[in-house]
Amino acid sequence: MTTTPFRVAIIGAGPAGIYAADLLTKAEHDLDLSIDLFERLPSPFGLVRYGVAPDHPRIKGIINALIKVLDRGDIRLFSNVEYGADISLGELTDRYDAVIFSTGCFSDAPLELPGIDLPGSYGAADFVNWYDAHPDVDQTWPLEAEKVAVLGNGNVALDVARVLAKQADDLHTTEIPDHVYEGLKSSRVTDVHIFGRRGPAQAKFTPLELRELGQVADVDIIVYPEDFEFDQGSLEAIESSNQVK
Ligand SMILES: Cc1cc2nc3c(=O)[nH]c(=O)nc-3n(C[C@H](O)[C@H](O)[C@H](O)COP(=O)(O)OP(=O)(O)OC[C@H]3O[C@@H](n4cnc5c(N)ncnc54)[C@H](O)[C@@H]3O)c2cc1C
Repeated sequence: MTTTPFRVAIIGAGPAGIYAADLLTKAEHDLDLSIDLFERLPSPFGLVRYGVAPDHPRIKGIINALIKVLDRGDIRLFSNVEYGADISLGELTDRYDAVIFSTGCFSDAPLELPGIDLPGSYGAADFVNWYDAHPDVDQTWPLEAEKVAVLGNGNVALDVARVLAKQADDLHTTEIPDHVYEGLKSSRVTDVHIFGRRGPAQAKFTPLELRELGQVADVDIIVYPEDFEFDQGSLEAIESSNQVK
């Protein structure tokens, strides 16, 4: 007896989409599953490919686990298909029993600061997409500034600061594309300033990422003593977690 497959469409082939497909195929159920992944870009893996910094090969290595899932052959991947442009919800619900959206976060949150749109001001998503060679982003980047301000103190801020501060030759062992190598090689950056809205106790990067910055060749890290005058909220945050301490 043949059963009708339960058809699932997954929109977005980043880690969330691929892991969702993997979990569905592994879960205990009686369904004869048929899973189709739709990806807007020519290649899958989302921000692991186009967001994670090139000098973080261990994290980029997640791609190997994702490849294994796609290589099994029980999930179909359709690249260059954009939900909303090439395929509509109606077309999907006509043909599939369930639709999962895993389209990630592909642009910066707006920052309401006077002058944010002035020349020389960029969102991290664009810069990160440039150094990871996202197909939507121009291959050239105007790395003409000597002093750069990075606003925000999360892990992406540290990625951006580290990539700006590194010698381009030290990135040769990574998978950076030639145009990014050439761009960074000609960069004139000497000072990178990271600005956090709050203090060290509220920083959103890990101690590991901070230590990594300290190991970049020819880079001195300067921190200001007054930033370590903690208010009550900061003291509580410090006491609540060894990582913050
Ligand atoms: C700069 C940066 C650095 C990061 N560094 C790290 C790190 O070091 N370690 C870590 O663990 N995490 C890191 N992350 C976070 C990690 O990349 C994300 O948590 C993860 O990629 C999210 O997976 P996702 O599948 O939800 O979304 P995404 O990875 O964004 O994947 C979404 C996919 O959906 C596709 N898509 C979007 N819209 C459509 C559409 N309309 N139709 C079809 N397809 C569509 C996109 O092209 C993309 O392939 C970083 C993120 C950024 C931005």
